Amino acid sequence: MSVRHVFVPINAKLGEGFSIQEIAKAGEHPGRRTKTNGYQSPATWVLELVSLRKPVILCSFCRYKFDPKYYKYRRFYVANAAGHDPYRTDGQCEDCKDRTDRSPGGGTMFVAEEQYPEICFEPKSLPGWNDYIQWRLRQAKQRVYRAAATTWRAVQRS
Ligand SMILES: [Zn+2]
Repeated sequence: MSVRHVFVPINAKLGEGFSIQEIAKAGEHPGRRTKTNGYQSPATWVLELVSLRKPVILCSFCRYKFDPKYYKYRRFYVANAAGHDPYRTDGQCEDCKDRTDRSPGGGTMFVAEEQYPEICFEPKSLPGWNDYIQWRLRQAKQRVYRAAATTWRAVQRS
């Protein structure tokens, strides 16, 4: 008896195959084009990048699906004088393929651990590291203040 493998894409009913929209969407990203059926799932594409130890850019919505520790990846870090988040790298998300600057907090680039010393300075060794920690604390305080203000307004309204 032979075993038949049936591949069912996300958002499709059993036996439907890939929709025209899915194939068209795959065509937007060069890495997602395949010769056989014109469609490659985001997970396959990300794993392909990981197997080649290439950088992976993800938006803040898709980031949680990727476990950098498991694949021995690290967040790309570059300190800049403009005071932007040094862990932020924008581009096209490898998963949803949207521009990462549209997602809250922007995108993150993950680079292979073994390439990290060639690409990034160790963040803690840089003179800007303390400034970064201070900046993160200020942001956290602002978030708490904003949440408190929203709750207070809601209490006053009720
Ligand atoms: Zn995404």
